[in-house]
Amino acid sequence: MGLVGSPRSSATPQSCPVCNGEKTEPSFKHRLFDTIGFSCHRCDHRFVPEIEVTSDQSRKHFKTNERRADFYAMNVLRYLDFESVVDIGVPPDLLLLNLLHRVKPAVRKYAYDLFPIKTPEYVTFLDDLGQAPSVDVAIALHVVEHIPDRAIHNFVAQVSDLARWFILEVPNCSRRPDDREPHYHFFTPRSFSSLVEPFGAHAHRIVGFGPRRRPALIAYRLPEGVAIHNGLSLH
Ligand SMILES: [Zn+2]
Repeated sequence: MGLVGSPRSSATPQSCPVCNGEKTEPSFKHRLFDTIGFSCHRCDHRFVPEIEVTSDQSRKHFKTNERRADFYAMNVLRYLDFESVVDIGVPPDLLLLNLLHRVKPAVRKYAYDLFPIKTPEYVTFLDDLGQAPSVDVAIALHVVEHIPDRAIHNFVAQVSDLARWFILEVPNCSRRPDDREPHYHFFTPRSFSSLVEPFGAHAHRIVGFGPRRRPALIAYRLPEGVAIHNGLSLH
């Protein structure tokens, strides 16, 4: 059993959703979606075309990685001076915002997800990211790779408009696509940079969180002089 809905005819040539490059070729089989994935010659991006996934199927895969939430709440956001934050693509456990609430009780906290969830009184759930108030910080951890096709550009643009500062994290798929996950995009430092550079951010490699410590990429726009290094410290 996979998350297979109705895949498009799988080997149709596709242009690259990151750089629009026309030179792409079928290069792997996405094991979970059971469809063909493509590689872009220009920016190294690997991707699969959109596949319908139901909310129930999708939600099974979403829960917070505790170490990641702890890192961003306690080692990064804790030391920034800000008044409002939105966590985008938030799992029902709300771990990041809950942790953050302990150290930054006065910060206004918003959560956005495609599927409504119950939130404690100190978190405002947003039904529509387009209607969200401007905030100081937007954070979207392991969200971009779940957004199909070219919608990733609109997503990053929306995050960039919404927030003065933002942090995005995606898996680093330089070695191979993580095709057992419901992901449409498999970024390398080059392809992730290509996506985020128009918004004043660059891709950085970090050591992954969690037991398998899978490598990840982060891109952020933060106050001058603030950098996130190696998943370990803030300077
Ligand atoms: Zn490309």
